[in-house]
Amino acid sequence: MTDLTLDEFTAEATAFLDANAELKPEAKAFVWGEGDDDVALFEEISREEEAEELARAKAWLGRRAEAKLHWISGPVELGGRGLPTAYANAYRSLESRYAIPNQSFFGIGFGMVAPTIQAHGFPETTQYLNRMYSGELVGCQLFSEPGAGSDLAGLQTKAERDGDEWIVTGQKVWTSGAHYADIGEIICRTDPDLPKHKGLTGFVVDMHAPGVEVRPLRQMTGGATFNEVFFDEVRVPDHHRLGDVNQGWTVALTTLMNERASIGGGGGGGGMGLASASRLIEMMRHYGVDQDAVLRDELAKLYTGYQVAKYTNLRAAAKLKAGGVPGPEMSIGKLALTNNLTATAEFVAKVLGPRLIADSGEWGTYAWSTFVTGTPGMRIAGGSDETLRNIVGERVLGLPKEPGIDSKSPFKDIAKG
Ligand SMILES: Cc1cc2nc3c(=O)[nH]c(=O)nc-3n(C[C@H](O)[C@H](O)[C@H](O)COP(=O)(O)OP(=O)(O)OC[C@H]3O[C@@H](n4cnc5c(N)ncnc54)[C@H](O)[C@@H]3O)c2cc1C
Repeated sequence: MTDLTLDEFTAEATAFLDANAELKPEAKAFVWGEGDDDVALFEEISREEEAEELARAKAWLGRRAEAKLHWISGPVELGGRGLPTAYANAYRSLESRYAIPNQSFFGIGFGMVAPTIQAHGFPETTQYLNRMYSGELVGCQLFSEPGAGSDLAGLQTKAERDGDEWIVTGQKVWTSGAHYADIGEIICRTDPDLPKHKGLTGFVVDMHAPGVEVRPLRQMTGGATFNEVFFDEVRVPDHHRLGDVNQGWTVALTTLMNERASIGGGGGGGGMGLASASRLIEMMRHYGVDQDAVLRDELAKLYTGYQVAKYTNLRAAAKLKAGGVPGPEMSIGKLALTNNLTATAEFVAKVLGPRLIADSGEWGTYAWSTFVTGTPGMRIAGGSDETLRNIVGERVLGLPKEPGIDSKSPFKDIAKG
């Protein structure tokens, strides 16, 4: 319970925002050819520009921390403000009206790593939470390996016990943001003799520790937002373990459910985002196809898809607010997001035709190519479409298990939510 009313809190937060940021210009009606035509799904900036953006993003969180507005609903004993979630939501909604530095660097840390540390960490790692929320430490997720993605429980990076420490050796891949992360949540094999999903353990690893090497991977959009990460006998203290030894599958599930919630719940249905309905309508008008019956029908379907996803996500959010945990509906939210993005990419490709692939300098044309080449990555990250359909089929619709997937399958466990 708190003595601070929501109105008093809102006044305090508004005063902070007014003093530290500019209100965004009123959202104007979209006009074709005006403003920024960037619709990329992944950052396409150089590492130098990225480092500058990160510094601004961290500085913003630092200021929020000074005002005790960085972890509003976090427990007081861990450095949070201890206020109800409604206060944190009210702050988020207020802040969205102000122009603040890009906060996407913290998505994985706040959305996945921090909730997992909070649920499974020892005091030595839960003390990182306050430092994460105040922008000092950035987190990354070290799950996927060259031979283990959808079949995550097949991962081979090993952690061997050495007194009060563990020695980690192996390779992770597709690690978003590893090049600027300070800590990573890693799942390792700690007992190769147990069934594959029972011999795993989670840890928090220092990304600056000796033996950690991060190499960038370039994706087809042109950017390099993810990396390969090599571990060569990296020492991790036992108190950096997440959960019990060989219980890493439970730890991984906590992260995966939060991942789907944070990916799907964001762009999945919060609106049409970058691909706003008016942007698409104006594109059709500009190229003289706004009376094309087939395209009009497709646009209507797109709009409907985004609206349905929005209300599905709102229902899932209401469940979380009421004290529920992220469940299979998060898989539906993520699937809805990627279906809508893919349909948008196909629609835009039909309207723009060859303009999409030739960089002629014409406003609002080639800029869409990074959106179109980014959508397949969205269909894979955070659980591929096929994996999520398995979960929805088995867990939500009660369909028979996938042939060949037995009772020990990792999909069975993911489906349990
Ligand atoms: C943009 C992006 C960011 C990412 N960021 C991170 C990150 O930060 N940290 C991290 O750990 N990982 C990250 N990943 C990796 C991601 O989690 C994996 O790529 C994903 O889990 C799929 O694994 P995979 O690439 O090994 O493909 P595979 O598992 O080899 O799958 C290949 C294909 O087979 C299909 N398939 C596999 N099994 C089945 C089945 N049983 N039934 C039907 N179809 C199946 C898949 O759907 C897919 O189409 C990222 C990926 C992307 C694209």
